[in-house]
Amino acid sequence: MKLNENFAKMPGSYLFSEIARRVASFSSEHPGREIISLGIGDVTLPLVPAVTKAMAKAVAEMGEAATFRGYGPEQGYAFLRNAIVEHDFAARGISITADDIFISDGAKSDCGNIVDIFDVDNKVAVCDPVYPVYVDTNAMAGRAGEYDPKTGRWSNLMYLPCVKENDFIPAPPQEKADLIYLCFPNNPTGATATREQLTEWVDYALYHDSILLFDAAYEAFITDPNIPHSIYEIPGSEHCAIEFRSFSKTAGFTGTRCGYTVVPTALERHGQSLRAMWNRRQSTKFNGTAYIVQRGAEAVYTPEGQSQIRANIEIYRGNAALIRQGLEEAGLKVSGGENAPYIWSETPNGMSSWDTFDLLLREAGVVTTPGAGFGPCGESYFRLSAFGDPKKVPQAMTRIRIALGR
Ligand code: PLP
Repeated sequence: MKLNENFAKMPGSYLFSEIARRVASFSSEHPGREIISLGIGDVTLPLVPAVTKAMAKAVAEMGEAATFRGYGPEQGYAFLRNAIVEHDFAARGISITADDIFISDGAKSDCGNIVDIFDVDNKVAVCDPVYPVYVDTNAMAGRAGEYDPKTGRWSNLMYLPCVKENDFIPAPPQEKADLIYLCFPNNPTGATATREQLTEWVDYALYHDSILLFDAAYEAFITDPNIPHSIYEIPGSEHCAIEFRSFSKTAGFTGTRCGYTVVPTALERHGQSLRAMWNRRQSTKFNGTAYIVQRGAEAVYTPEGQSQIRANIEIYRGNAALIRQGLEEAGLKVSGGENAPYIWSETPNGMSSWDTFDLLLREAGVVTTPGAGFGPCGESYFRLSAFGDPKKVPQAMTRIRIALGR
């Protein structure tokens, strides 16, 4: 018996457990001190009424013989796939069909599982800093090589630095990468890519026969009409891109679990349809998302659902604006937070990101996320999330300003 040795090569999942440890230790030393979390990217507002009503109706249906449902289609119910096509794609002039849509229990699973359809020898490119799931799932599959604790990097991955000099948007590299993970609006930097920037990536992928793995989990936060919501707004992308979407941040589904992946029928390599491969993978290893949850997701697209989720997103956008303003008033250089729920800030006086975390926890009682946790280029930055409790954000920002002597 042999175990998958790639797991032994992986560094511990350090970031959020270390944050939790430091917060717990601070709280036990300072009982009674109120801590405000602007750290982890979980939502705080409840599901909207249109969604809970649709889910309650679906629960009642499941309790009646005439309307009970057993296993559903592995790809998701037609009612939800059609609603997605109409509202997320046709409404933007994109010709994605219901056949191209695969409903899942969230974007994390899909981003992680997609590696199943690619050979281990592919060259994978990721941004630095990055959502760790892209890196870790490739490491588990043996595609990342060896981890170097000194540099915080894997030997076989290609890193695309996202730094202030490129406004946190990487340009395509000179070398060829086979699989490129792109996430816009970005976690953790909150950066958004323009049509021109995404066109460069699509041209690169078409030229090199690469595949873009485009994570659009935060597209609902885009208000600027010049920023694409989907990679499929870029001509040619249906031949080189897979897109991941999620109801988590769009509609508060982090605990309810629903997302979807688009694998266009036109996407082929070596005479094989990637859509057919993903369909094979999903129907083998996945038995579909709960009917009740899919009815809830469908309700997001109704007129009431849309106005209710928009109202919540506006509250988070209000948080983002307050956070940006508060950090700027505290004398920090910030980016993101305008078409994205994350604000990426330089640390005060070039402090390390963990020292900044400790300072803000100790002096302000505010939990942040140290940039170094997302990759070496995140050092000297920290991330604030706009998903916090809107009643507490103003107070958190006042405390941060005072802690930083402003
Ligand atoms: N993709 C990115 C970039 C994320 O930040 C997250 C969650 O934080 C996800 C995907 C996961 O989304 P889901 O809740 O749909 O699994």
